[in-house]
Amino acid sequence: MTHPRKTIAVVNATGRQAASLIRVASAVGYAVRGQVHSLKGIIAEELQSLPNVTLIQGPLLNNVELMDDLFRGASLAFINTTSQAGDEVAIGRALADAAKRAGTIQHYVYSSMPDHSVHGPWPSLPLWACKFTVENYVRQLGLPATFVYAGIYNNNFTSLPYPLFQMELQPDGSFEWRAPFHPDIPLPWLDAEHDVGPAVLQIFKDGPKKWHGHRIALTFETLSPNQVCAAFSRALNRRCRYVQVPKIEIKVPIPAGYREQLEGIEVLFGQLNAPYFPQEEFTRPAAGSPKGLGPYGGKGAGAGMMQGPGGVISMRLTDEARHLWQGWRDMEEYAREVFPVEEEANGLDWML
Ligand code: NAD
Repeated sequence: MTHPRKTIAVVNATGRQAASLIRVASAVGYAVRGQVHSLKGIIAEELQSLPNVTLIQGPLLNNVELMDDLFRGASLAFINTTSQAGDEVAIGRALADAAKRAGTIQHYVYSSMPDHSVHGPWPSLPLWACKFTVENYVRQLGLPATFVYAGIYNNNFTSLPYPLFQMELQPDGSFEWRAPFHPDIPLPWLDAEHDVGPAVLQIFKDGPKKWHGHRIALTFETLSPNQVCAAFSRALNRRCRYVQVPKIEIKVPIPAGYREQLEGIEVLFGQLNAPYFPQEEFTRPAAGSPKGLGPYGGKGAGAGMMQGPGGVISMRLTDEARHLWQGWRDMEEYAREVFPVEEEANGLDWML
């Protein structure tokens, strides 16, 4: 190397989004400085073994010292906060302040989510709205920033009894997914571990000149719940049935605040059929897009259409992500290649 490596600062390094970026960034020669809540566990051990990856362990809440260490000399940042770490708005704002103070950050990529109440007669989802508050703060600070909106992770699915994405194994060997989503309205999907890293790396390569202030949907595929089940059926050679239910079944203890999130999902997507990403960016006309194609891929499915000069044209929600990274993993590949492996690692044996 004839020039110093660029350093990327990340938080929650062992999370699925950040770990995906770290693996790719390290492999192509970036240095990464990542905050973790614990150095224990297989992901933390794996990340520590990667070239030029340094992990800093400590909490984020009220930890200015750690944040200053994190951003010192870094030129890029990928920030995805979680509710487990404490007040997400306070943490998100403090991280942006620290990045600004460091004075070296050339591009700050923040993993945001929408606040539906801003866009229609819809309730806010508490675990999402806090991220949108932080997004607005980052914009006010004037950091050169881009905001990525992650689709629903493919690997939320599990046959274990977690709420919302349980792919429940039936006595006859088939699977059943019960959720409040409309069976035929497409939802945005993302294989977070496989595809966040390469897409975010490309955003860094394009830089703020191309992406400053933009929102980018990190979703490569839009599928209705019925289409998701069809992909699982093809992949696993087992029947997989979707059943729309008004209430999300909660069979295990859940973290504080998650119940309100789930109740909001029942209303937003079960009763009101709100678009998953309601912002104007995600429905805006794009040059060269086929006429009459809705943002979720189908004819007008999911969210509003816009009137362009040549008639109704609209960007597909997946266009920008697919342009950033063409090697993405679809639901069928996930269900065939990864789901059984994760299930086996969770102690289940239906695949044997
Ligand atoms: P993750 O869920 O894969 O993992 C979170 C990691 O952080 C775990 O390793 C956990 O042990 C650790 N952690 C966090 N806070 C901790 C604490 N205080 N103490 C100990 N450990 C702690 O992470 P991720 O998926 O990269 O990011 C999660 C965020 O992504 C959430 O805010 C979520 O709302 C958002 N998101 C998720 C989805 C989805 O479909 N799952 C979609 C869009 C956005």
